[in-house]
Amino acid sequence: MDRVQLALSNATQTHALEIGSGVLDKVPQVFKSQFPGKKAVVVAHAATWAVAGERVDTLLRQAGVETDASIVFKDADMHAEWKYIEQLDAKLSHTGAVAVAVGSGTINDITKLCSAHQGRPYMVVATAASMDGYVAFGASITRDGIKSTYKCAAPQAVVADVDVLATAPAGMTASGYADLMAKVPAGADWIVADVLGVEPIDPTPWNIVQGGLHDALSHPEACREGDPKALQALAEGLMLGGFAMQAYPASSRPASGAEHQISHMLNMDRFVMPDGQAPSHGFQVSIGTIVSLFFYEQLLHTDLSTLDIDALVMRWPSLEEQKEASLRMFRKSDFPTFAAGEIEAKYSSPEELRRHFEIMRDRQDELKSRLRQQLLTVPQAIGRLKAVGAPVHPRDIGLGREQMRATIIRSQQIRRRYTIFDVAVRMGTMEEWADRLMSSHFA
Ligand SMILES: [Zn+2]
Repeated sequence: MDRVQLALSNATQTHALEIGSGVLDKVPQVFKSQFPGKKAVVVAHAATWAVAGERVDTLLRQAGVETDASIVFKDADMHAEWKYIEQLDAKLSHTGAVAVAVGSGTINDITKLCSAHQGRPYMVVATAASMDGYVAFGASITRDGIKSTYKCAAPQAVVADVDVLATAPAGMTASGYADLMAKVPAGADWIVADVLGVEPIDPTPWNIVQGGLHDALSHPEACREGDPKALQALAEGLMLGGFAMQAYPASSRPASGAEHQISHMLNMDRFVMPDGQAPSHGFQVSIGTIVSLFFYEQLLHTDLSTLDIDALVMRWPSLEEQKEASLRMFRKSDFPTFAAGEIEAKYSSPEELRRHFEIMRDRQDELKSRLRQQLLTVPQAIGRLKAVGAPVHPRDIGLGREQMRATIIRSQQIRRRYTIFDVAVRMGTMEEWADRLMSSHFA
């Protein structure tokens, strides 16, 4: 079974996926088979209406699908903000039609959440290979300045025509490529959690994301140039990341690790570039991926057989001390107590900590060989991210040195997921490794 079929057969919410050159023509067929007898309404932005929305609308009508007047947003700098949720809710509440979202992150997320508000399924026609959220459940929406993930079902059907994806702005494809590369360190985080007995690897979502990942990442220049084969592999890889989450409802662990924490931290701190816009998800994750891969290189360079386990356990702060430190760290933020809760959720008792270090010491060869097989080196990653046009230095997204360093240190605290950052904190090397990165690749 190929990965797409494996993914579909394990998906709980998405039942149809078409990726390939020319598959836009299949939209009516997919719609009719998934939503028999239903009316359709195309939801798009002016830009995505021009590249595919109008054609989708016409194809549906020609195929005899009853279709409401399409809903086309016109704001030039439209983001996934609550005001659009209110606008689309108002429109959808006047029709029983199934929404056909034509777009990428923003259009998909608002259609996903509004369809859920109406108690209806929906489908999406992708216009850019820009992120892995197409078939993820949950929509990432900014409300009152705070970006959160709202619970809602993934699309029931997805159509991604590679010829359409090829027309997307180069920066969007570069974002998607970086979001796909993030699955490399994310997988390493799961390997560590698996070896330490913190969170065992579940083979099905693991294979959906990791099988074929390195192949899909091997042609960054071709992705940048819009080569159909490279884009197909990129789009499939991104879709599979979302499918893996459907196969692992516990969390986004299969597709997201420490590198995504960097992105979440920037979002929580409401980081914007000099132009007032937040960098794309993929561009944030691009920087996070380099951070995580660098931390893994430091771990691989450490001889774990010489760890002074007694000393490390002795100086491990108590839960109360850790929570107090966390409250001090986030005192001036919009979420002063949030991180303390996450720290508590993943706190290791001194006995657990000792056991983790003993495993790292006794199974060093196995751990390192699995990690080496999984990882890319930092220079490899930087070379490929540069080739696709993604940022490789904090300054590329307008992030200053101080804030970059602080983001690394703080991001360990904002999620209970066990990652390379937790290894570094427990080894007492978090600051040292961050400083080393700031004076080498991020100098
Ligand atoms: Zn992502």
